[in-house]
Amino acid sequence: MAKFTKEEIARLHPETLGLSFGFDPWRSEGSVKPPAFLTSTFAFKNSAEGKKFFAWLHGEGAPASKDEMGLVYSRINNPNLEIFEDRLAIWEGMDSAISFSSGMAAIATTLLALHGPGDEIIACEPVYGGTSVFLHDILTRFGVKIHTVAAGYDAHEHAAKLMNPKVRSIYIESPANPNNKMTDIEMMRSLADRYSKKGGRVYVMVDNTMTGPVFSKPSRFGADIVIYSATKFIGGHSDLVAGAVLCNDKATLKKIMAHRSSLGGMPNPYTAWLLTRSLETLKVRMEAQQVGAIKIAGYLSGHSKIRKVHYLGLLKKSDPEYALFKKQQLGPGSLMAVDVKGGEKEAFKFLDNLRIFKLAVSLGSTESLAQHPAAMTHAAVAPELKKIGGVTESLVRLSIGIEHPDDLIWDLEQALGKV
Ligand code: PLP
Repeated sequence: MAKFTKEEIARLHPETLGLSFGFDPWRSEGSVKPPAFLTSTFAFKNSAEGKKFFAWLHGEGAPASKDEMGLVYSRINNPNLEIFEDRLAIWEGMDSAISFSSGMAAIATTLLALHGPGDEIIACEPVYGGTSVFLHDILTRFGVKIHTVAAGYDAHEHAAKLMNPKVRSIYIESPANPNNKMTDIEMMRSLADRYSKKGGRVYVMVDNTMTGPVFSKPSRFGADIVIYSATKFIGGHSDLVAGAVLCNDKATLKKIMAHRSSLGGMPNPYTAWLLTRSLETLKVRMEAQQVGAIKIAGYLSGHSKIRKVHYLGLLKKSDPEYALFKKQQLGPGSLMAVDVKGGEKEAFKFLDNLRIFKLAVSLGSTESLAQHPAAMTHAAVAPELKKIGGVTESLVRLSIGIEHPDDLIWDLEQALGKV
């Protein structure tokens, strides 16, 4: 089987390329699927070759093509990580991806790689609780200042008031965890451009975990860096923890890669092997989950015990977010949050009575999951940031799996009946 040509790559869909791109069976005994390269280190043909690879790694010269760079050590490179990275980049429509041991390793490594003392970041809320804690409690210890804006279709207007020459990046989760708030990436890009200068680009970073890469592709709207918790939809089976960062700019990518090598936040080869296998079914899983979510959101929106359903598929033309949804999203996905009438007591009663939904954090897996963000995933977020982000006591987050939607509706009905 020959390598795909550039024209073929441009012509073929990710779900086609995702089954064979980046792996040559004839380099592995004709194996149709990539084997798991469970090795920590790789043999050099001779000392000169080892010296050459290390020189390239340290920036002395460069291989003529990516294929010329040999394998060295699994903290630095490994075929399973590279196959996964190449295929994820195809899915995102970006040049390169770097895999990580978790979404938080991806986020923390990227933010540390691209910021230093005196730099400022404009960050939206809500974001995943761990991200908020890293930004506000850890990155600030290294002299980085964080400005907060409420996520939303008009977030760029608030961000514009905070923009100044020290701002190095704008950090967005869109749609945001847990309540699906969308932020206009294109408007944030034009704001960042106004403050970018030669050698000092203001980055737009987007955590695309909630609906990407099937239903959202932030780089189309100018995001420089796209981040994933691959633990979620990409892994898709609640059986691994991983992350990824995508970027088109070679110099930026090199910085992030160097920090991954130093901090050691790469996934192990078996995790990367599992991720590669999961990518093959990414689209069918996400589409099936979305079909169920649309039905379930419709049911919940008419329920007497529910005050509001935060689901992109329920937006109407008259809603201020609708135009942004149409522009930025290819679908509403399968995450939703509901405001249960009452507060924490009623929300807990609902959660404690679910029979099919598992009461567990995480999202994007084949099984449906439910949790209480204020007390669980976002528990460590500062109260004022929870308020800005709309993470309330009555909010329950639902991640819809691939079970029959009617069974899930039955489960929700009986649990809400006990509230
Ligand atoms: N980003 C989002 C949107 C998340 O929901 C999460 C985890 O829930 C993370 C990042 C962190 O990912 P991980 O748990 O893989 O470290």
